[in-house]
Amino acid sequence: MYNDFQTYLAEELAKIEAAGLYKNERIIVSPQSSDIKLNTGKEVLNFCANNYLGLADSSALIQAAKDAMDSHGYGMSSVRFICGTQDLHKQLEKAIADYFGTEDTILYAACFDANGGVFEPLLNEQDAIISDALNHASIIDGVRLCKAQRYRYANADMEDLENQLKKAQAQRFRLIVTDGVFSMDGNVAPMDKIYELAQKYNAMVMVDESHSAGVVGATGRGVTEQYDLRGKIEIITGTLGKAFGGAVGGFTTGKKEIIAMLRQRSRPYLFSNSIPPMVAAAAIKMFDVITSSNELQDRLHANTDYFVSKMTEAGFDIKPTQSAICAVMLYDAKLAQEVAAKLLDEGIYVTGFFYPVVPQGQARIRVQVSAAHTREQLDKCIAAFRKVLNK
Ligand SMILES: *Cc1c(COP(=O)(O)O)cnc(C)c1O
Repeated sequence: MYNDFQTYLAEELAKIEAAGLYKNERIIVSPQSSDIKLNTGKEVLNFCANNYLGLADSSALIQAAKDAMDSHGYGMSSVRFICGTQDLHKQLEKAIADYFGTEDTILYAACFDANGGVFEPLLNEQDAIISDALNHASIIDGVRLCKAQRYRYANADMEDLENQLKKAQAQRFRLIVTDGVFSMDGNVAPMDKIYELAQKYNAMVMVDESHSAGVVGATGRGVTEQYDLRGKIEIITGTLGKAFGGAVGGFTTGKKEIIAMLRQRSRPYLFSNSIPPMVAAAAIKMFDVITSSNELQDRLHANTDYFVSKMTEAGFDIKPTQSAICAVMLYDAKLAQEVAAKLLDEGIYVTGFFYPVVPQGQARIRVQVSAAHTREQLDKCIAAFRKVLNK
């Protein structure tokens, strides 16, 4: 059979390529950082990592990981409930709950798993999930695995959310689900209004803080800090793979009964390996670093403000951002692709996004600012944009 299947795959792949949607990977031979080296020998400034606090090559985190390999070994070879729980896993769960002001935390191998495993154990066909249209793929997949009735509202559209909540009154329990920061525009979910509507229409709230944790809020504690909702949101999910060090791992944190039920019934938790001790130890160290000083969060906020104001001054059209994601709007897909390629020639690594990742006619370059960027690096990026787009 494989001959026929091979032909089929080759045709499908050719279609992806013809549509200009084929994803090629650039190979990095240095640690992840604000400046990286590619296997071509080229050195570039990196403006497309989720390394918001610049911790991906932190010497303190690397040392904590090395020490944990000596004290706790390399891997767990087990799921948590059989023999995959070390003191480090429990310490990390507590550190996450302390950071977000929640009652308890459950770890996963990734936030994709946290979102994949959160709905099905908690809700059934008597219940309703009301989800923002631009929520992350892992939320969409998680909702698909659950039998609850599905309602969708337009991105951050509170009138639409209210309409959907009215429709969902027939169900037993209601859960509103939103990303904290939407990754294409960098906008923050209007959590104050979402929370208000949840109270008015008797619903619970879940927020995925993957792009907002470490970034949004004065001390980086995410959208619940920004909107003064600490302890009030039932479910928060997030990743250790972005601002929080960038290695791997995800979590769900929130009300203790919810976490307790997930430990009993959440399939990606019950049937998938524990995160390695070195990752748990480095993440514990990471919370130490970002709670003992606000230096990285302050620098990230200052860098983002600087970049947005200088780019706006230079006449670029930047979507209003409330995070470290800056969408430089070019509208035309081909132009966005060309500009990204030319910026790479100038030593600036950014990504162009166009349909179907963003709506038709909304093509853009996404710039992700980091606390690790120096003023000089930010200036180089801005100068390269000016040079490339003046042509
Ligand atoms: C990146 C991201 C995820 C996936 O996180 P992983 O830990 O890499 O699986 C989930 N949700 C959102 C909103 C994200 O941005």
